[in-house]
Amino acid sequence: MSLGSPSRRRLWPWIVDAALVVLILVMGLAGSVGAYRSLALKAAGQQRELLNAMGQSVVGAFDLQLVRVVETLQAASRMLSAQPGLTRAQFARYGAGLVTDSSALTLLEWQPVVPHAQLAEFERQANLEQPGYRVVEPAPQYQGDGLIAARERDMHVPVRYSWPENGSAVGVDMAFDPRRMRSKLLARDAGVPIASETFPLIRLGQQAAAISGFAVSAPVYRISQPTGVEARRRELTGFLAGVIELPTLMAEAALRADANGLDVFVFDQEEKHRLIYSSAGSEPFQSDERDTALSIDVGGRPWQLVLRPRPGVLAGEGDRTPLLVLAAGSLASLLVALAVARSLVVRRRLERTEADLAEDRQRMANVLDGTAAGTWDWHIDTGRLDINERWARMLGRSRAELEPVTSTTWERLCHPGDLIESNLAMKRHFSGADERYTAEFRMRHAEGHWVWVQSNGSVFERDAQGRPLRLAGTHMDISRRKADEQRLYDDARALEAANRQLRDLAIVDALTGAFNRRHFNDVCLAALAGAQRGQAVALCMLDVDHFKAYNDRYGHQAGDAVLKALAQTLKDSLKRSTDALFRLGGEEFGVIFSATSAETAEHFVSQLSAALHALALPHEGSPQRVVTASFGLAWWAAPSSNLTPEAMYAAADDALYEAKRCGRDQVVMRCFLAGEGEGETRTSEPMALSGRQA
Ligand code: GH3
Ligand code: MG
Ligand code: MG
Repeated sequence: MSLGSPSRRRLWPWIVDAALVVLILVMGLAGSVGAYRSLALKAAGQQRELLNAMGQSVVGAFDLQLVRVVETLQAASRMLSAQPGLTRAQFARYGAGLVTDSSALTLLEWQPVVPHAQLAEFERQANLEQPGYRVVEPAPQYQGDGLIAARERDMHVPVRYSWPENGSAVGVDMAFDPRRMRSKLLARDAGVPIASETFPLIRLGQQAAAISGFAVSAPVYRISQPTGVEARRRELTGFLAGVIELPTLMAEAALRADANGLDVFVFDQEEKHRLIYSSAGSEPFQSDERDTALSIDVGGRPWQLVLRPRPGVLAGEGDRTPLLVLAAGSLASLLVALAVARSLVVRRRLERTEADLAEDRQRMANVLDGTAAGTWDWHIDTGRLDINERWARMLGRSRAELEPVTSTTWERLCHPGDLIESNLAMKRHFSGADERYTAEFRMRHAEGHWVWVQSNGSVFERDAQGRPLRLAGTHMDISRRKADEQRLYDDARALEAANRQLRDLAIVDALTGAFNRRHFNDVCLAALAGAQRGQAVALCMLDVDHFKAYNDRYGHQAGDAVLKALAQTLKDSLKRSTDALFRLGGEEFGVIFSATSAETAEHFVSQLSAALHALALPHEGSPQRVVTASFGLAWWAAPSSNLTPEAMYAAADDALYEAKRCGRDQVVMRCFLAGEGEGETRTSEPMALSGRQA
């Protein structure tokens, strides 16, 4: 594994996420653009359809009129062919009917064909009916009324009748203009009405600008419907011409176009695509991609109708939808990409947090492993106790064999003597007195012995009222520490005992266990201190009789045994805790004791002597045959503050000496009574113990 791997591993998910977000964004935007384009195409198609429909509506506005004009002229021309000898009055009636019927027709003319040879006769005949009639034509530089007599040509086509007559071109020979004649000759040969090209209409006697228009000429023959071009040329008598003013014809169409926001342009296809009408005024026409062209037939002439939506007409409501779709789609893609990016970021963060948590858990497990701690988690309301394996292992058990583990499991395993203290510690923690729960208790090991456990924990979940719900902590095996503590305690006790022994050794005689001579002064002083409060005090001294002889006869070791037995008997005879026995020298002892009267003191000492006799230790070297002792007793009824241990010793020793001198195995007593002067003593008589010899 290279060093770069972990960082690359961390980087990879981010790269994948970023790629995913970019992919979503790109796909969303591509979809939006696609939708925009298809909608835009559809909208364009709809626009075209709309324009076509509008065009049809516009065309329909004048197409029907034109068809009607053509049909009317055809019917009229056929009727005229059948009825020669048309009069001015007849035509006027006829024309009035036709022109009034058709809104497109503004003028109806009868234009007979007159060969030049018959022109004079024709004019003469016409003058009879219409005085002043003459056949004329516009002067070469035609301006307004500049009419001249028709010049000579093979055939004249003068306007004979017109309805209405006012301002019409009556008398004008149409043959002067080849352009006008072309449609007539075509009509003649085809036998059907043909429209002329568009030109300024001639209005005699009118100064106004010439109106643009065209004529539809229907051929009239001598016979009804001649067949073949030759017959038609031969039988032609003239033309019935309907004049149509372009502005009038286009008025309705222009109105419909205007209502739809369109401009209309009309072209005559036969005349090199000449613009013959424009609703947009005099502006020069320039083709535009928005144009819709429709071809129509106008009396045999191909026209082209161009419709152009005015600016702002089609870029309206319908046009904005694709853009809205594009914007909404792009925005939606962006939002989705953002949302995905955000959720991915959140997911990655979660993953990192989980990884951190797992690491924390592992670290915690390592710490617990390192400290060899058992863990527990107590659900107080249910009593459930979640423990780890080590908790059970500490007690030589497995968690499985303890299941189900509850607080009762713990109570059962805990030493009964430690339960109360542990529960008290728990209560102190619950109440807040202790920040943590800490207790030490013994728990039963599977092998029967006790394991010392230290438990530490704290509440980590409480209910709304602050009552503890969960408590968790650790168990540590502190058996070794407890054993060390016990050992230390035992050592301390041993040390204490040794010290006591040492102290005893300093004041106790090793052979007999009686206090030694050194301690005598202290006890004497203590007794005197008590005596100062008005108590009597007594000191009795005793010395084994003929002890040298005993040693000599029985040996020194036997002598020691006698001394031990004697000391034990004397100690056993002591009555109060303040009474004390001393070994004052070789086989010489002292007893300090309290006695309220001289009699009780004397009685106590005689009891001591009796106890020794009762031991009946054989002593062949003594006259009594048993071990005896001599006693010197000194008793102070109310010792003064001047009394010293030395004085007490001297007094008792003196009495003892007296007892020896008087024959041994007896008590001599000296009484110091209260109220007498210092140093004054009264010595009691040496007293032989009666019955001792017996
Ligand atoms: P009495 O007191 O009756 O006058 O005669 P006695 O033999 O006891 O006289 P003395 O005081 O002269 O002798 C004391 C003897 O006690 C001397 C010694 O052998 C003996 N003695 C002193 N201390 C000890 C001891 O600790 N152990 C033994 N076994 N004997 C001791
Ligand atoms: Mg002695
Ligand atoms: Mg002696």
